[in-house]
Amino acid sequence: MTAAVPYVGRFAPTTSGRLHAGSLVAALASWLDARAHGGLWRVRIEDLDSPRNAEGAAEAILGQLDRCGLVPDGEVAVQSTQTAHYEAALQQLVEQGDAYPCACSRRDLALAAAPRSVYPGTCRAGLAGKPARAWRLRTQRGNAAATDAPIEIEWVDRRLGVQHQDIAHEVGDFVLKRADGVWAYQLAVVVDDAAQGITDVVRGEDLASNTARQILLQRSLGVPTPRYLHTPLVLGADGEKLSKQNGAQPLELDSPLTALREASRVLGVQAEGTGVADWLASAVAHWRTTMPR
Ligand code: GLU
Repeated sequence: MTAAVPYVGRFAPTTSGRLHAGSLVAALASWLDARAHGGLWRVRIEDLDSPRNAEGAAEAILGQLDRCGLVPDGEVAVQSTQTAHYEAALQQLVEQGDAYPCACSRRDLALAAAPRSVYPGTCRAGLAGKPARAWRLRTQRGNAAATDAPIEIEWVDRRLGVQHQDIAHEVGDFVLKRADGVWAYQLAVVVDDAAQGITDVVRGEDLASNTARQILLQRSLGVPTPRYLHTPLVLGADGEKLSKQNGAQPLELDSPLTALREASRVLGVQAEGTGVADWLASAVAHWRTTMPR
C-alpha cells in the first residue's frame, strides 16, 4: 500500500570521492524507503566544500547509482548552483536576530576556555571592532551564556527512537557560513531539504548527531521538519565509520548485485533475485513489511 501522505526522499552524496561500500548503504536505504512507501527519490550533489571536491566525482557517483539500478526521480540537484538560497536564508536569520558574525580565528577558539568544540560565545555580543570571518546561529538569548535556558531539541528517529540534544551546551552557536566563505553543511542541508520538499531523510547514523541542529534551523527558518531514519554504518578496520581515511575503496561495480547484497546485509534486508531489477523489487517488498514509516 502506498502512503496516503506524499513521500519525497533523497540521497545527498558529497563529491569528495566516488561511492564506497558505506555510501552505497545510505543510497540503497533511502531508495528502498522511498520505493516501499510509494515516494519519489531525489539525488542532491553536495559539492559546497570545494577544497575537498574530487574531479568528476558527481558524474562518477551518478554512474555508480545507475549501475545499481538506483535512478533518481526528476533532475539531480547541485548545491553549488543554490548559493542564492543560502544567502537569503542567512539574511532571514540575521534579520530575525538569530544569526551573527564571528571574528574568532582558530587560535582564538583554541585559547578560549570552552569544553571541547563548544563555541564559547565570544562574538555573540558583537565583534568589538574586529572584522567578521564566519556567521553563526545564536543558540542562546542574551549575552551571558551561563544564565540562559538550554535549547533542548527532542526528536524521534525511526530506528534509534527518541533522541535529544541540548544544543546550547553541547554544541554552542554553530557555524552557518565558514570563514573561507563556504556555506556550512547544516544550513545548506536544511535549505535544500525544504526547497526540494523532502518529507523523509534516510542517511547514515554518523549524521544523527547533526539532526537536532538541523531541526533548530528548520524552526528558525519556519520550514517543516522531515521524518528521520539513520541507518547502521559500515565500519572500517579501525572500528570507525568506513571512510576514505580508514581504507574505503571506491566501488568498482563489475558486479552491482554483489555490492547491493553486501549493502543489504548491513541493513538487515532479505532479498532474492538473479538480476538487479528483480533483486531490488524483492528488497522493496521486504523493506515495506519491516520498516513502517
Ligand atoms: N552529504 C552528506 C554526506 O555525504 C550527507 C548529507 C545528508 O544526508 O544529510 O555525508
